[in-house]
Amino acid sequence: MTNFDYDLFVIGAGSGGVRAARMAAAAGVKVAIAENRHLGGTCVNVGCVPKKLLVYASQFSSDFQTAKGFGWDIAPPVFDWNNLLANKNSEIQRLQNVYADLLQGSGVTVMHGQAQITGAQTVKFGDQSYRCQRILIATGSRSSVPDIPGKEFVATSDAMFALQSLPQRLLIVGGGYIAVEFAGIMQGLGVETTLCYRGEKLLRGFDDDLRDFATQEMRKKGLDIHLNSQIIQIEKTAQGYTALTDKNERFEADLILYATGRHANIEGLGIDALGIALHSNGSIKIDQHYQTNIESIYALGDVANRFNLTPVATAEAMAFVSQCYSDTPKTVDYENIPTAVFSQPNIATVGLSESEARKRFQQIAVYQSVFTSMKYAFSGSDEKTLLKLVVNQENDRVVGAHMVGNDAGEIIQGMAIAIRAGATKAVFDSTIGIHPTIAEEFVTMRTPIRS
Ligand code: FAD
Ligand code: NDP
Repeated sequence: MTNFDYDLFVIGAGSGGVRAARMAAAAGVKVAIAENRHLGGTCVNVGCVPKKLLVYASQFSSDFQTAKGFGWDIAPPVFDWNNLLANKNSEIQRLQNVYADLLQGSGVTVMHGQAQITGAQTVKFGDQSYRCQRILIATGSRSSVPDIPGKEFVATSDAMFALQSLPQRLLIVGGGYIAVEFAGIMQGLGVETTLCYRGEKLLRGFDDDLRDFATQEMRKKGLDIHLNSQIIQIEKTAQGYTALTDKNERFEADLILYATGRHANIEGLGIDALGIALHSNGSIKIDQHYQTNIESIYALGDVANRFNLTPVATAEAMAFVSQCYSDTPKTVDYENIPTAVFSQPNIATVGLSESEARKRFQQIAVYQSVFTSMKYAFSGSDEKTLLKLVVNQENDRVVGAHMVGNDAGEIIQGMAIAIRAGATKAVFDSTIGIHPTIAEEFVTMRTPIRS
């Protein structure tokens, strides 16, 4: 018998929160979860899922072109944004229902609305206060826009999933995942798209060859990319908006998307009153057990800002539940997390970039292949694929696998298993390829381009 209303109160029913609530309930724990927006959180509603649907939709335009070389004579296809949006909305509704059923089926009490932490073991929801043995903050993150004149005119990624109509001219600001993915989506859907990034190369943190190659391939598809360019002011005009850069360039657009990073969702949670420790960027400080500086309060997922990816949030949730409620505590290994940018072409990576490997190891070898796939060579497209392996020569281990090209995410997922298993280059070399595929190139690269 406890004097608590709940053993665990989860705030936020996104990727991490839902997984933690369900797993804890399955272990016999009395769980409540509060969600102030939509069940499933960012990933299901305004992130991974609708984004991937838009990526699929936009890829058809280049597929129609490629199809011609294969004998298809297609009348100019007509695209209907509102039709796509309606289909996307019903799919998201279906997934929200799945989440509701899963939570209900596991015996979790679901509360729709804003929750606030009012004490180390107290959560306020509406007029009610609940005593809880543990509180888990899984409130995710939201877009942040720099404070520049005219910032009130810009859209962020949430709005892109509910546009009334497609703009004719779109300006995207930022050079990270969201900027690059939406650039591909909108360009593919026929929107005149300009990408403006303050740095020298897009996608900081990725391998440099990948960054250069992806930029070149996206430019080939017609994307207008401006690097080393910082927007300093936005004005509303009769025709739309004008953005002015620090280099005195002017961009005219009907819509401006800011994809300049995300901040932890902590507003209204009661963080300050409780003295929960934060990092300087506003994310919640946690230890290796997902515990904050207050013993009974935990945090995971985007709000703790480790690797802001859905599979990481769910892995953290499972580790948290195993640590609190089982005899076999698990941890998350933050090394070798694979990731994909669903740009066009796709970019995917696992392990170390070449420059990271150079810092970490004495001697490395780099294998790289750039080629036109059979599909594109046949159809006359000049789209190219890049595959790259980074090897630690001291023990022959493959420490990084990188790719730009069709289905890179699908292919690198398999490479991630090999790298986690410690596969050497010799193991890659002795693996029989599947012919004819793009991925077979990963097991046929024999001569390093650099070592
Ligand atoms: P969330 O999923 O954001 O859930 C937090 C929930 O808490 C939200 O629903 C929020 O409304 C709710 N909440 C906040 N405060 C309160 C409160 N006080 N009371 C009640 N509820 C509250 N990741 C990938 O791995 N692959 C992708 O392809 C991918 N694409 C993305 C595309 C976009 C456009 C975006 C924005 C993100 C994408 N991500 C992707 C990242 C991924 O969505 C996040 O890493 C993931 O959703 C984080 O899960 P979470 O549980 O930490 O938070
Ligand atoms: P990112 O951190 O990936 O990128 C933010 C971009 O904005 C960077 O290019 C950054 O530049 C730039 N930037 C930051 N501040 C400013 C500023 N003041 N002025 C101009 N530019 C600025 O964030 P996103 O918003 O793209 O995505 C958020 C996170 O969501 C990602 O990091 C990822 O974890 C997750 N996500 C994952 C996806 C996937 O798995 N496919 C897809 C979408 C999102 P600089 O590099 O110079 O700092």
